[in-house]
Amino acid sequence: MLTCSKTYKDIPFAHRQPFHEGHCSKIHGHNWSVTIEFQATDLDKNGFVVDFGKLKYIKQFIDEQLDHACLLSSEDTQAKELAESQYKNLFRICWVENASCEGIAVFLYEEISRLVREHEGERVSIRSIKLHEDEKNFVRYTP
Ligand SMILES: [Zn+2]
Repeated sequence: MLTCSKTYKDIPFAHRQPFHEGHCSKIHGHNWSVTIEFQATDLDKNGFVVDFGKLKYIKQFIDEQLDHACLLSSEDTQAKELAESQYKNLFRICWVENASCEGIAVFLYEEISRLVREHEGERVSIRSIKLHEDEKNFVRYTP
């Protein structure tokens, strides 16, 4: 098994933890970084696990879903009211099951795995997602 990793840095988006007793319950932003670890047992004809030059579909997903978005939990009833309010044009919501760093890492694993299957076939898969909230805190999801 060989792996390779690609990092996307400085992706600004917001989130909140509606049930947190501290400041994490407030909508706030980070400059996130995500590292995607790809794995393959067989290399492609160029000897690559995955061709980094052909991952524009992942950048497009990040730009369309995450960049300057607000990631909110589908369990967050206040966010739904906010989304339906007169202020809904002030932010773009990306709904996730759980908007913690851990939950977003799982969301990214599932969404990016689906895209990789569509574009790379069965030869390549995602081994892990490492999601940095900032320089100090990160989560790694390895199913
Ligand atoms: Zn946060």
